[in-house]
Amino acid sequence: MNNILRKQFLAHVGQTSPSPMLVEVARAEGVFFYTPEGKRYFDLISGVSVSNVGHSNPKVVEAVCNQVRDYMHIMVYGEMVERPQVQYAERICSLLPSSLNSVYFLNSGAEAVEGALKLAKRYTGRGEIVSMRRAYHGSTHGSLSIMGAPEGEYYKSAFRPLLPGVTSIEFNDFDALDAINTRTACVIMEPVQGEAGVRIPAEGYLQAVRKRCDEVGALLIFDEIQTGLGRTGEMFALHKYGVVPDIVCVAKAFGGGMPLGGFISSREIMMSLTEDPVLGHISTFGGHPVCCAAGLAALQYIVDNNLVSQVEAKGALYENLLQSHPAVREIRRSGLLMAVELGSSDRLYAIMEMFKQEGILSDWFLFCDTAFRISPPLTISEEEIRESCDVILRCLDNLK
Ligand code: PLP
Repeated sequence: MNNILRKQFLAHVGQTSPSPMLVEVARAEGVFFYTPEGKRYFDLISGVSVSNVGHSNPKVVEAVCNQVRDYMHIMVYGEMVERPQVQYAERICSLLPSSLNSVYFLNSGAEAVEGALKLAKRYTGRGEIVSMRRAYHGSTHGSLSIMGAPEGEYYKSAFRPLLPGVTSIEFNDFDALDAINTRTACVIMEPVQGEAGVRIPAEGYLQAVRKRCDEVGALLIFDEIQTGLGRTGEMFALHKYGVVPDIVCVAKAFGGGMPLGGFISSREIMMSLTEDPVLGHISTFGGHPVCCAAGLAALQYIVDNNLVSQVEAKGALYENLLQSHPAVREIRRSGLLMAVELGSSDRLYAIMEMFKQEGILSDWFLFCDTAFRISPPLTISEEEIRESCDVILRCLDNLK
């Protein structure tokens, strides 16, 4: 890597950890990205479930270029009629249950979560929130407040005071649902937990959460920021499990590689943000026309190429190729969202080093540092899956 650029990166770009990956990217295409020296990396993260249609997807690039030529930012969100935004809202709603018919566009996942929490508080007139242990919903004050305790304590404690009235319950514990009561504005949860290391809902669990929310008049929010847009083998995980929440949060793949987030609800619930106070939630860049054009093109690509229907078979192929290796303890998987459990953080760190050398980009999970992530672009081919598994198996062979 260019040494000057590396030094400037470390000196002037705000850092998130003492040990960034420090790989320079020159270009990206499909499931690969390339360094300036021409080294190729298999992207098995997709920018954490962002690049579902592959890097530099020509349809998305074309939509972005066309929109940039027409117009970029015009006015704060919600005032002007911007065609890409309207078309995207209509299209995404047409793929969701009929009660989810109104999209509030923002720029990121954490912002989508913030907006959804405010909407639930405003609509119910209640102040308490129930979230799940090991849940990750973002890094802003509100979304950090609902990070699942006690595992999230490490990330939260330095930033207190955070939002009051938040209770964390154990994911998949049916008895813990008693904590949802008439003071609860909303339950927010990922239908499949991502950063917990891919945790799948137990049979009937999401239905039980829905039922409890209905009993006490709390809203149910699904954070589909990581699971949305085909990742689990259905367009949304809510389709996979047959449970309709009151609000869905989307981001990541929603922008087709551009920054876009949103929360989706019924028009009736959504309208409560428009009065008492008016401007209950506002954003300058929310639903940026270029991002909406990119997201709409990506969604169209997913539909036109039947990507969602191929996800389960692709995920199963990964699982079949890797599961019998003696170093693999377990594979937890929902479609192409996968955690390969090695049972020890030392072994995980060792394999991460090998992956970097061998041109594989993988990662650990925020609340699980014993498993590595496989969540490639949904466009990955059978041949690419086999080729990446050959490299992974070779690295697993070399684990002590
Ligand atoms: N919710 C989930 C489930 C996530 O995985 C993430 C990011 O990883 C977020 C919310 C936050 O999204 P963003 O980083 O765009 O704020």
